[in-house]
Amino acid sequence: MDAELIARRYPGLKPFAPPPPPPSVKPVTLNAAHPLVFSRVPITEKVVFVTIDDGVEKDPAFVQMVKDFKIPLTLSLADTLIRDDYRYFAELYATGYVSIQNHTLTHPLAMPRMSAARQLEEIAGQQEKLKREYGTTPYIFRPPGGNYNATTVTAVKEAGLRGMMLWKESMEIHDMQYQTAAHRLRPGDIILCHFRGPAQLKGETMVQMMANLYRHIQAQGFTVADITHYA
Ligand SMILES: [Zn+2]
Repeated sequence: MDAELIARRYPGLKPFAPPPPPPSVKPVTLNAAHPLVFSRVPITEKVVFVTIDDGVEKDPAFVQMVKDFKIPLTLSLADTLIRDDYRYFAELYATGYVSIQNHTLTHPLAMPRMSAARQLEEIAGQQEKLKREYGTTPYIFRPPGGNYNATTVTAVKEAGLRGMMLWKESMEIHDMQYQTAAHRLRPGDIILCHFRGPAQLKGETMVQMMANLYRHIQAQGFTVADITHYA
């Protein structure tokens, strides 16, 4: 039933295989006293993690896509990019398939050049807003542009988060950008995507871009698991 619906709505795609049961001990050990910076999960199963950042595009069809595929996604949201429509992300959260994490108040790409107080304000301020809007307390921080320094790690700790998540691949419009020469997914890789729409994707939609990503993942024989079960 699901397979039929998915093939009809998303040509070339099938439901993802169920992920292996969550490990009894999380392979990435986060620590409130010393937040850990990580960009993959040390596992051998053919599992990857899909993370979606920022929040500019708010495509209603993507909410349906999340419900159709039923795979876990991690959203790292920045307040200035979501504040014109907090409800959109509440709808995504209500699907039960997403976790919401912290991506600062204003998405400063030059975080390492900011004072300790400003960095803390960006993270702690967004922590408060996400708690207020969605009733969830993020514990993972994603630095805008992947740019951070030791002061950022301290700010992450002081804001009460336990880890800082980078990535191994990023999704463009049709293709993935790999950090390694092999141009292949590896078990435990974290993939970066963004909430983007036709204005940022040369006319393609968020759903088309995510379908392209899912095709890459399926073609390489991987499935998708929940980072919050592994870190
Ligand atoms: Zn970002």
